[in-house]
Amino acid sequence: MSLTNSILCLFEITDPNLIVTGISKERCSTNQRIHVVHATLSYQLLKCPHCGHKSLIKNGTHMSHLRLGTLSGGRYEMHLKRQRYQCKDCSKTCGAKTKLVNRNETFTHNIKHQVIVLARDMLTSKEIAKLCGISPSSVQRILNANIHLAYRVKHLPENLCFDEFRSCNHWMSFNCCDAVSHRRIVTLKDRLSKDIIDYFEARFSVQERAQVQSVTIDMNAEYGSFIHRLFPNAATIIDRFHIIQLAGRALDNERTQTIRTIQDKHSRLYHILKSQWRLFHLDEIKVNDVKGSLKM
Ligand SMILES: [Zn+2]
Repeated sequence: MSLTNSILCLFEITDPNLIVTGISKERCSTNQRIHVVHATLSYQLLKCPHCGHKSLIKNGTHMSHLRLGTLSGGRYEMHLKRQRYQCKDCSKTCGAKTKLVNRNETFTHNIKHQVIVLARDMLTSKEIAKLCGISPSSVQRILNANIHLAYRVKHLPENLCFDEFRSCNHWMSFNCCDAVSHRRIVTLKDRLSKDIIDYFEARFSVQERAQVQSVTIDMNAEYGSFIHRLFPNAATIIDRFHIIQLAGRALDNERTQTIRTIQDKHSRLYHILKSQWRLFHLDEIKVNDVKGSLKM
């Protein structure tokens, strides 16, 4: 196998008009070491794409710097000399095309594919950027351009769950999922009532929304204010986890207030209330009467 074929096979490039002329190691503008594949792209173009006449002549070359997929975590580039053509009839020019990369783009399909595959493994933008030898903002740009979220799910489940989570920095985002299968229905970038209402009203008809039987929420009072408007037949259920969490916090508050009223900091009661806080959260049947009892 020739050098050209070996390198093209490594990068899974199948363009027959592309010929590798050499490989080298260079330093880019940020002083980073890069592997460069030098290649030329040329073929016999018969008709002018502008006027259709068969009067094309070769008119020099144009150098394109393309980003290839990575082989061992480094940065790989292709310096591609593309053939230029000029029409003797209309005097317009055009260049040789390749399926390796989209028009006026630097990132080849190969590196874009690598980014998408790594993103499926739940890696962060920074980690993908490091593995592919590109910047995190480029990773984000590739993902935004190639991943299209569904406009809506096909069928709205009968039982829904609403919750919120901290997505980035201090932003809270809204998440809705199927209460039975736990399948994600939608994730919105914020949790504003207006945006949640807009999302469901724009995508689901009144009939579809009327089939929802229950919506499970946390103790966010805002949700309760619009659930009946969106889902007229749905019962609002407060999630058990959040009720238990609230009861646990109330118990802890009461315990800490009691600790503050104890004057003697060396008493047994003070130490037990301060250090044995887990005992107060135990299920009654799990409490050992002999070892874990508190005699007040
Ligand atoms: Zn022409």
